[in-house]
Amino acid sequence: MAQCKECGKGFIENRPFQVFCNDYCRGAYHRRRYRQQKVEEAEDRREARLNGDGRGTEEERQKASEVLARIITQSTSGRPRIRRI
Ligand SMILES: [Zn+2]
Repeated sequence: MAQCKECGKGFIENRPFQVFCNDYCRGAYHRRRYRQQKVEEAEDRREARLNGDGRGTEEERQKASEVLARIITQSTSGRPRIRRI
């Protein structure tokens, strides 16, 4: 009897060293791991940037949010997007 790493349920291994009770749990576990890794990478990049230049980060953040707001406003202004095919 083994315990599923994802849902914690006890199960009988079909093969040695099996750690998930089924494919769903295996998939869920790896999806979460992958997402967590992406988040950690983003955090690392952010920290590296902050460490690289301690000054003016508040201003930079402000600028970034202004740009983002402008992008959102533009994309929701109701103007139909013309897409050439
Ligand atoms: Zn499971």
